[in-house]
Parts: sequence; structure tokens; C-alpha cells
Amino acid sequence: MFDDPVPGGRPGEVEHATRQAEELAARGVHGVVLSWVDTAGVNRVKAVPVGGLASAVAWGVGMSPVFDTFLADDSLTSSEHLGGPDGDLRLVPDLYRLTVLAAQPGWAWAPVDRMTQDGAPWVACSRSLLRRLVRRAAAEGVTYRAAIEIEFALGRGDAPPGEFVPACDGPAYGMTRLVEQSDFCAAVLSALASQGVDVDQIHPEYAAGQYEISVGALDPVAAADRSVLVRATVRALAQRHGLRVSFSPAVVAGGVGNGGHVHLSSWLGGVNVHAGGSGPYGMTAAAESFVAGLVAGLPPLAAVTAPSPASYLRWQPSHWAGVFACWGHETRETAVRVVTGMVGSRNRAANVEVKCADLAANPYLLLAGLIGAGRDGVASGAALGPEVTGDPVRFDDAGLAEHGVRRLPSGLAEAVREFETSPLTKALYGEVLAGAIIAVRRAELARTAGWSPERVAEAYRWVY
Ligand code: GLU
Ligand code: MG
Repeated sequence: MFDDPVPGGRPGEVEHATRQAEELAARGVHGVVLSWVDTAGVNRVKAVPVGGLASAVAWGVGMSPVFDTFLADDSLTSSEHLGGPDGDLRLVPDLYRLTVLAAQPGWAWAPVDRMTQDGAPWVACSRSLLRRLVRRAAAEGVTYRAAIEIEFALGRGDAPPGEFVPACDGPAYGMTRLVEQSDFCAAVLSALASQGVDVDQIHPEYAAGQYEISVGALDPVAAADRSVLVRATVRALAQRHGLRVSFSPAVVAGGVGNGGHVHLSSWLGGVNVHAGGSGPYGMTAAAESFVAGLVAGLPPLAAVTAPSPASYLRWQPSHWAGVFACWGHETRETAVRVVTGMVGSRNRAANVEVKCADLAANPYLLLAGLIGAGRDGVASGAALGPEVTGDPVRFDDAGLAEHGVRRLPSGLAEAVREFETSPLTKALYGEVLAGAIIAVRRAELARTAGWSPERVAEAYRWVY
């Protein structure tokens, strides 16, 4: 991973890039995709021929900062600090994450940091922001491991425009469903293995046409990169199999959606704080405060964890989307699920799963938000509220208050209000990026005002 920018290019990296480009060319790679994710959660790219890799590493590739205030439908808005036609940034590929794409012959892929022409990290670069946060923690001996689960719905590629026709009919978790997309699922496993992605599981999920891939945990920046890479791979393979894939939180209105559940663990001096403690389910005091911080941070972070108007079609109680800000042990209706893992594996496996997040979220902003909220809890020694068992939907207002439970925002407008008034989000993202997040969410709201759930689902179905 890059050190901070070096004025005059990156001599050490350039040598590495030159060698890597030669190896890539020998493997039949012609182009390198330079990939980042915008504020709206859309993966945007530029690409260079493989011979241009060293130059891209030394000097970056030009790109307008206007994407910081792009909407999911490619229209633009602006915030107090960002938007408009002026300025240029440099996209600088991270060579250590460069991956030859198994499902797109001739192509390699690398996530980028966005930098100014003066060589400083761009104020709205979400990847740099997450890396700064992780490095600050590491200097205090605290590290994190993260993994983002990928749920997606497979549709038939030959469906009429505007329609989603599931590419399988079998039941949830059914062998029939796996048989129906057997070649596709095997191709996904093969491609991800050749790209160095360790897959934990692939399985048919609950909703129509839905499947899920879970992957191994990594350092948070790498985990966010991986979430982008896995989706690009699945998308490319779907196309090659005559299918179309949707990662949208709500593929159709009124059903179970696609989640992007986040597994997160916090380690002190290399030891997992979520196991071996004297608190509930083996949590140490640090883990309890981390979870308390997470639970408290989820309402103001809704505009990041569930950033799309489509996210709120998914955020329904009793849909396994975790719409109540509280925690439970292996509970699938609490936003935070404490996972201990199997006896004997707990010092490695124990973690927390944040269920409310979806795949419209920019994964860098998402992990920065969740880690920041947890860190806040640890810094203030926050006390963990009571465990919730069962579905919190049964609580009336008094029950919610008694258990210290909050329903997460029921719409994007409420989410933006919570985000705007929260000291946590301002401190985490800084004024400029927070302003862009607010502006983009407000513009998505204005665009979809008065739309039916069906129209919202259709508009965002293929975007993320
Ligand atoms: N599809 C559900 C969601 O929207 C999650 C199902 C599960 O627990 O894996 O998050
Ligand atoms: Mg699932």
C-alpha cells in the first residue's frame, strides 16, 4: 500500500510497475482498469493500456472531481465545496491490489487513490480517508478485520427492458436453485480463486433469483477493495452466462432485498477483543464499548450504510435486514449480531456482523463509518445496552425505550437529518465529504420525490 505522495512521482513504485506491466503483458493483459467508488456508491473507472501502468503509478491519470457529487443516474448536483466543472484529480493505482481479471480476458484491475495535482490525498477520496483511520488506529496498536457479504439477484439477460425475470425458480437455499445456475456458480468460484479471493461460501439465498457469496476477512481497505472486485467479477460472469445481476438493495419492491452485511472485528496488540473476555459471549470491555459505539452510531450513519432511496424499500422489519439499532447474539433482526464462532475457533472467529448495510454503500465510507463509530464507543468507554432476543418488531414504544432500542430511519430524508446533526459523522468524514454526502442524498431524494416503490426499485436496479 502506498506511502503518502512523493513530490516528483514515485520512483520506487515505478520500477515495480514497469516489471509488473511486462509480466501482465506476457499474460495477455492489454488494459488496466483504474477503479474507485463515488459518493452515490457507483463504481466509476478509467482504463489505461498496460504499457501506461508505470506512468499512471508515477503521475496518476486525470479525472474530474465532479463525480463526488454525481448521482446514481449520472446527473449532477453540487455541495458548498464540491461539484462544478473546475479542477482535475489524479487517479493513482494501488499496485499491491492489482488483479488480473479472470472473467474479463485481457484486463487487469486496480483500485485507486485520488490525489490532487500537488500530490496530496484528495479531501473527498474515501479510500484515503479509510486508510488514514486504519493507520491512526494501528499507531495505537489497534487493528481491524472486515469482510463484506455480497448478496445479489440473478435475472435473465433476455428479459424485456424494465423487467426483472429471476434466472432460477428453485426454492430458497434449494439444491434446485444451485443446479439451475450450476455452471455460473462454478465459474464464480473458479474466477475468484484465480483472483486470490478466498471464498467462505456461495449459496442460493431467499429472494427470487438471489444468491450470496461470503469471503474471508482482511484489513479494512483491502476488504472494501475486495467488495468492489467481487461484484465486478460476478457481473462480468453473469454477462458471459446470458444473465444480468442486480446488487441493488431492492431488486423489486415489496420483497426481501440484497444486503451487504459487514463482518468486523477489532484487535488489540494482535489479540481479538471479541473473544476471551469476561463480558457477555466472551466480549472484553473494549469489545463491549466497540459494540455500544456501533449501535449508537447506526442511526446517524444510515445515510452511509443505506444511501439509496432503494435502501429504504429493503429496510423493513422482519426481513432480516436488521432495522433496529440494538444488538443480539446470533440474532438476525438486530442491526448488530454478535458472532462468537465455534468453540475452539473463537479467538480467530469472533466478530460482529452489521446487518443493516447494503451494497449501494460506498464500501470505504461504510467501513470508515462503522469503525469510527466503534472507536468512538471505545474512546468514551460506552456501556453496552441490554441484549435483545427475538424480533424487536414486537416492541411497542415503551418496549423499545425499555430495551434501549431505536428503529433505524424509515426513509432517506430522515437519514439525512440524522447524519447532518450528528457530531460523529462530521468528525469522521470532515466538512467537505460530509457536505457531498448530504448533497448527493438530497438530490437523490428530489429526483425520486413522489415515485412509487416499483419505480424506485426499477430506477436503481442495475446501478450498483
Ligand atoms: N437478504 C437479507 C438482507 O436484506 C439478509 C438475509 C441473511 O440474513 O443472510 O439483508
Ligand atoms: Mg444472506
